[in-house]
Amino acid sequence: MPKGEAARPKLKSSETSTASSNQPRRLIGVHLSTTGGVAGAVRRAPEVGANTLQIFSSSPRMWRASKVTADQASATRAAREELGVGPLVIHTSYLVNLCSQSSEVCEKSVLAFRGEIERALALGAEYLVVHPGSYRGMTRKQGLELAAKSIQNAIAGLPWQQTPFHILIENTAGAEFSLGGSFEQVAELIEHLRPHAPVAACLDTCHTHVSGYDIVSEAGWAETMAQIEKTVGFETVRVWHCNDAKAERGSKLDRHQHIGEGKIGLDPFRRLLREPKFSHAAFIAETPVDAPGDEERNVLTLRGLAGSLLPH
Ligand SMILES: [Zn+2]
Ligand SMILES: [Zn+2]
Repeated sequence: MPKGEAARPKLKSSETSTASSNQPRRLIGVHLSTTGGVAGAVRRAPEVGANTLQIFSSSPRMWRASKVTADQASATRAAREELGVGPLVIHTSYLVNLCSQSSEVCEKSVLAFRGEIERALALGAEYLVVHPGSYRGMTRKQGLELAAKSIQNAIAGLPWQQTPFHILIENTAGAEFSLGGSFEQVAELIEHLRPHAPVAACLDTCHTHVSGYDIVSEAGWAETMAQIEKTVGFETVRVWHCNDAKAERGSKLDRHQHIGEGKIGLDPFRRLLREPKFSHAAFIAETPVDAPGDEERNVLTLRGLAGSLLPH
């Protein structure tokens, strides 16, 4: 066995064959670079075995962003239609903090988030994923109220009503002062926002694990599913970020790992991908790209676990 392969977990033989499958088609994708434009990323999705994808619509570490041109928007829509790729998920820039105690950062964040929404609407994206933010210097309740108000201000007056567009609140790794480290906190923010904006949830397997939920043992899995049901609710989860974790459960360390090669392992992903309650959801890997082909490798692992290796 070549070096380096020993540690790689194995799929069952039925999960690596394209022979037959009774599983419904799952929406499975990966975060892709937009170096070749958004339409280029959409075109790349099927090349890595994906039928959905996530992108950044601007540099995730810069405040400045350019508008989406009409040509870019139509090329993106055309590529999606031709290849049957969707939903299109956009992840908000990491600089945005919608509950910063600094009014300067908060105002900049609201403006930047408004730009994110404008670009998402221009591109026809279904989902815009955002982390609720860090409320350092305030109470959690103040942070929650500020995040809700910021999102409400950011979307005010924008034409989302006739579109499938939703803002997805992502659960976080649970670091100190970070809002959204529990399903309750995600649900609370969604409830605050529902009358004012189209909102739903994105749950991340790595964040769920390192924030302390047990998704690895079978009993823990059942308990965690029960927690999701009575907080955000299954229907509200539109996207699952599928990432294995380098760190232990409860460590609050957000370090993503290739599917099946971290502390979560293959079994929880198999359960997740085969859970009928999430058949409406998109499953998107945000796994590391350490070597060429890593995006495809993780997508194919997820598809194997879902039992949907057949070409879609
Ligand atoms: Zn995220
Ligand atoms: Zn994530």
